[in-house]
Amino acid sequence: MRYAVISDVHSNLDALEAVLSDMDRRQIRDIIFLGDAVGYGPEPNECIELLSAKCKILLAGNHDWGVTGITDICCFNEYAKHAIEWTAEVITDRNKAVLNTFLLSEEEKEADVFFVHATPRDPQEWHYLLTLRDAEINFNYFDNKICFIGHSHQPFFIEQAPSGELITSKDEVHLNGDSRYIVNAGSVGQPRDGDPRACYAVFDNDRVEIVRIPYNIGSVQDKMRQGHLPYHLIERLALGR
Ligand code: ZN
Repeated sequence: MRYAVISDVHSNLDALEAVLSDMDRRQIRDIIFLGDAVGYGPEPNECIELLSAKCKILLAGNHDWGVTGITDICCFNEYAKHAIEWTAEVITDRNKAVLNTFLLSEEEKEADVFFVHATPRDPQEWHYLLTLRDAEINFNYFDNKICFIGHSHQPFFIEQAPSGELITSKDEVHLNGDSRYIVNAGSVGQPRDGDPRACYAVFDNDRVEIVRIPYNIGSVQDKMRQGHLPYHLIERLALGR
């Protein structure tokens, strides 16, 4: 059983295609999408259609529900708000309806895994899980061995040992039979950990790995300029911030 877990595509079709072609050589059984298909980037319709065709599970992110109107975008920063409004204009009615079908959370019982965009505690509040204290609280809000999240665009692993001790790691983790884990799968379309390459997670029975894939960032930036998306959003793609 091997799963690919992807999150925060943000209308970046070039990055999404790059990670999907990387998966082709890894014998992936199912692809799980953790939310934020749209927002920030230039190709929302293409990303929704490709994700819908490829993914077994499709979750909602705050940008997805910002476009459909389920989530109020009043608290979004000015760049995110601008991109949401731009997306709402170019998205087709059909794809908007598809975004409305995205779930808040889901579990794979067979693999004992829980999936959510932001936090298991309050999925629809879109809080960030960033600190060990946040993790400690959130371990109480799912029953499975592993919870995959996205939202912060920063990949990480937090292991909770049977003693309660929390251990962090990067890049990969070998699953210990008695521990539980929270894994942030990073962001396909707008990484913010200083590495601009597309990011996703590969999970099989005893191991989770963070994978980084280079893609043509200049091509996406050109499309964003053509769409008159904010300069700050264009620039940050190349910085990975
Ligand atoms: Zn996001």
